[in-house]
Amino acid sequence: MACNSCRKNNMSESQNPVTPNPVPFRKEEVPIATNGIAKKMNMVKSFATALTSRGLTNEKVSKATKQLRVLSCFGNGDVLPPCEQLKKSTESGKHFCGGCGCGDKKGTWLISDSDSYSKLDYPKLNCPLQMPGFTNYKESTPDEAVSPITRRYYVENISYRELEKISVTLHGAPIDPKKTAPNP
Ligand code: SF4
Repeated sequence: MACNSCRKNNMSESQNPVTPNPVPFRKEEVPIATNGIAKKMNMVKSFATALTSRGLTNEKVSKATKQLRVLSCFGNGDVLPPCEQLKKSTESGKHFCGGCGCGDKKGTWLISDSDSYSKLDYPKLNCPLQMPGFTNYKESTPDEAVSPITRRYYVENISYRELEKISVTLHGAPIDPKKTAPNP
């Protein structure tokens, strides 16, 4: 006969199916600019580069690059958590990058309304953590593959099939891959 604690454990196991161990990800800090002026200059320079890349014809980044950017910022709703720098806007459903210092306003929302040009649409765009998909992307070092791994290493090694599950439009919001994945 099972003791009370065993019964209790069996019950909790059947009610809560075993979930795979979460992948441990490393905490990452945004490099600190040496002083306030340097930080502001970097911000202005990045913004100017992004604006220039948009050009007069509102050019946009390719779909594959935007998928990489969305993955880098928002994660995949499954294994990869959102970037620690991702901040919720006071506007419902909008997000901005807390690492670049641009603040929360319409022009800095990573994904904007469907008819607006989003920050992630800019052909040239820097990421404070130099993540995949961004202009200043920096390849991971071998050390980043050692647990706890970096998000950058994970994104670099994601399969094309997984990346393709990230639904983006050139202006639209990302759709949760879980909701778009076909039923088994
Ligand atoms: S732009 Fe870079 S630092 Fe900012 S939320 Fe996206 S991945 Fe994170």
